Amino acid sequence: MSLKGKVALVTGSTSGIGLGIARALATEGADIMLNGFGDAEQIETLRSEMAATHGVKVAYSAADISKADQIDAMVADAVKILGSVDILVNNAGIQFTANVEDFPNERWDQIIAINMSGVFHGMKAVIPGMKASGWGRIINIASAHGLVASAQKVAYVAAKHGVLGMTKVAAIELANAGVTVNAICPGWVLTPLVEKQLQDRAEKDGKTVAQETHDLVAEKQPMVKFTTPAQIGGLAVFLCSEAAATITGTPLSIDGGWVAQ
Ligand code: NAD
Repeated sequence: MSLKGKVALVTGSTSGIGLGIARALATEGADIMLNGFGDAEQIETLRSEMAATHGVKVAYSAADISKADQIDAMVADAVKILGSVDILVNNAGIQFTANVEDFPNERWDQIIAINMSGVFHGMKAVIPGMKASGWGRIINIASAHGLVASAQKVAYVAAKHGVLGMTKVAAIELANAGVTVNAICPGWVLTPLVEKQLQDRAEKDGKTVAQETHDLVAEKQPMVKFTTPAQIGGLAVFLCSEAAATITGTPLSIDGGWVAQ
């Protein structure tokens, strides 16, 4: 229980990777502030189950990560309810695919607001408290698409490259404050975000979802295998450990060899 006494705020943790990270941090004893959209009853079941399973406090904020004032209020709520924010995982994110010339402006604005500006506003809101306590961990969930591009993902790729840039800036500013700032860059992880892409592609290509799944992963990753949310949670736990105290400003790939090519 290496994180007992710490509070972790994980954005977009009602599903997928964020949920895997929240569970991994709770397993290590951290109190958790969940965030994300979904059915209110299901979220309450998740909140109380996580608290009971791991013997930690778990709160929930419905803040919309595209709105700076709601992010500020969520951080204030975490401090009020749980006592502090020691670990911030900026994970909330969405996807939309189209060629640049067809990319709808409102989708561009939405992806930049959630996937990129939300990370800035989250870091800005927690840094004063982390500096005051002399300990903090900020983990930004970028992507292989923070390091390399794919067609039809202009907003996503721009946002994730931006996340890596701001990760480095914050890491330098906080280098002697006891606060590390890193980015995790996953390859393919089978979550609702990817399931939607698989269904759309299978329909377009006239393939079964199973065939499309194999082809989608094989197209980018030498290792034809999904990373799991639990494995990404394990990497987040490591970044919170004493062994990782001097790792800062770094993109950590967990991508089956995607960006090694
Ligand atoms: P997901 O769709 O399963 O989960 C996204 C979460 O973000 C959900 O909890 C959702 O409610 C929340 N969310 C969406 N918009 C929000 C908003 N405006 N305010 C608050 N919460 C919001 O997706 P995922 O695959 O788990 O993705 C999580 C992160 O991992 C994203 O940043 C994504 O870009 C990144 N990522 C995913 C993959 C992958 O293969 N799945 C690969 C690399 C990076």
